[in-house]
Amino acid sequence: MACDLCKLLEAPAEGVIIWGDQLLVVINVDEAEYPGYTRVVWREHVREMTDLTAAQRQHVMAVVWAVEQAQRAVMAPHKINLASFGNMTPHVHWHVIRAIPTTPISLSRPGRRYSVLPIRPCWRPAARCYQRCTRP
Ligand SMILES: [Zn+2]
Repeated sequence: MACDLCKLLEAPAEGVIIWGDQLLVVINVDEAEYPGYTRVVWREHVREMTDLTAAQRQHVMAVVWAVEQAQRAVMAPHKINLASFGNMTPHVHWHVIRAIPTTPISLSRPGRRYSVLPIRPCWRPAARCYQRCTRP
């Protein structure tokens, strides 16, 4: 069964792909809440960055950083967030998105509001604090 990104790449809507080469594409996610939200997507269905060769990984990151530079030049954001998830879509892709301070984001489910990293205040000394920092 093809994943969501494979399906999108089979028949992209007009204007979705804003740049591409034989290996990857840059997609305009175009969500009103997140202007400039872009994904860099490997064309072939590959699950992990480490499934790519070193040269392919460097190519992915070079494009991610080029998109980041373009967003900085055009939008002058407070911060750019870069993220690679695969919870919902196990297909190599990077999110490049302007950070909006204090606004929790959901990169995979528009409309669902949660922090990508559920960071909460931690009462433990730093030396003893590792996984428990994110517990409710
Ligand atoms: Zn796929």
